[in-house]
Amino acid sequence: RNSLSRLLRRRDNGGLFPSFSGARPMSYAQMPNDLEAFWMPFTANRQFKAAPRLLVSAKDMHYVAADGHKVMDGAAGLWCVNAGHGRQKIVEAVQKQVAELDFAPTFQMGHPKAFEAASRVAALLPGDLDRIFFANSGSEAVDTALKIALAYHRARGEGSRTRLIGRERGYHGVGFGGISVGGIVNNRKFFGGLLTGVDHLPHTHNLEKNAYTKGEPEWGAHLADDLERIVALHDASTIAAVIVEPVAGSTGVLVPPKGYLKRLREICDKYGILLIFDEVITGFGRLGSAFASEHFGVLPDMVTMAKGLTNGVIPMAAVGVREPVFQAFMQGPENAMELFHGYTYSGHPIASAAAIATLDLYREEGLFERAASLAPYFEEAAHALKGLPHVIDIRNIGLVAGIELESRPGKVGARAYESLVKCFEQGLLIRTTGDIIALSPPLIIEKNQIDELFGILSKVLRDID
Ligand code: PLP
Repeated sequence: RNSLSRLLRRRDNGGLFPSFSGARPMSYAQMPNDLEAFWMPFTANRQFKAAPRLLVSAKDMHYVAADGHKVMDGAAGLWCVNAGHGRQKIVEAVQKQVAELDFAPTFQMGHPKAFEAASRVAALLPGDLDRIFFANSGSEAVDTALKIALAYHRARGEGSRTRLIGRERGYHGVGFGGISVGGIVNNRKFFGGLLTGVDHLPHTHNLEKNAYTKGEPEWGAHLADDLERIVALHDASTIAAVIVEPVAGSTGVLVPPKGYLKRLREICDKYGILLIFDEVITGFGRLGSAFASEHFGVLPDMVTMAKGLTNGVIPMAAVGVREPVFQAFMQGPENAMELFHGYTYSGHPIASAAAIATLDLYREEGLFERAASLAPYFEEAAHALKGLPHVIDIRNIGLVAGIELESRPGKVGARAYESLVKCFEQGLLIRTTGDIIALSPPLIIEKNQIDELFGILSKVLRDID
């Protein structure tokens, strides 16, 4: 039994966890006395609990671990803390809101903050992506977008369009909709037949053609033409929507080939298929613009978002919907519900307040522009790891980088996992997927911190066998 008290006996700091100023230190006695009950998500539970990594407080670019050592956040938590940790403006907005209006339904009721948050998100989205449906997680946003796509075609008298097209290596969360259109084998294979009527485009990753590309690879736009094959196979009259991440994050930072997304848009237009961009990671400045759609100059019919929407502080997600799609739902009788869908916490007051404060912060501090101006420096620092042991590819865009390692024979993921453990010990939080290391620091990172981040990583990579 791995008790926390055993773990904490190793520490000697007067019985209090260290914390950044403002955070209330927590005594050991206040902590749960074991690590058993929490079934951890996407984690080797037994491995973790044998040597836990506990984070107890955070400020700006850093976490503090339970033993007191500082850990630089190289992953924006889980791709979400874009404005850095412990931001006072968000803390105050949340405190004020929870005291003023803790909860209000948005089913046949409303409250001002949800409407304000929706307007703010709509103003940030490109084109006529003007209608916002709120959910609580990226997975829910994906399910919502897929359901809107199906209902849209039905509302227009094209109810035969029920097929959904995802992409190999796509990650769209863990709902049944998301894993069905997603393309990660381990996330799918344990869970039965999944949604029927789903097909997948090929992924765009190709180490022979595109290794060590900075930004968008030259090779691969033609892979979008596979949608023509899918249309020829199933007929356009059966296809509702295509969903892709503009930059696939969770499967290891796969940057779209030049022209690929435009090509997808053209083919979707040709056949009346809706195009959904899953911007749960790429939204809110990660690529140096508010959304990847803007960065790539391609307007999808729907955008899913979460994470950076509230800086990760309160769970919240949303789907941005283009005006003509929304209008298709508004043609029935005025007293009839237009969409039989919603979550108890859609547009939750506290999440809405957190989102408004977060969007204020992004604007006031010019964080998206900051990400754009730091991107070339980040790119150089990432590509300087070329030549280190086991590194077989480096790719990047905005403030995201993927470092791909050669797998140890028979042990896929072992090298990256060992890197994660060692980085943590040496004061850096990274994210790994298979043998790919993903870096996505908060957009407040300074150049010297970029140096420090890659300095720690390079030292660790030299030590991995
Ligand atoms: N879509 C994408 C592109 C994601 O990266 C993620 C999470 O990483 C999700 C959906 C799922 O979001 P959540 O974990 O909030 O359900």
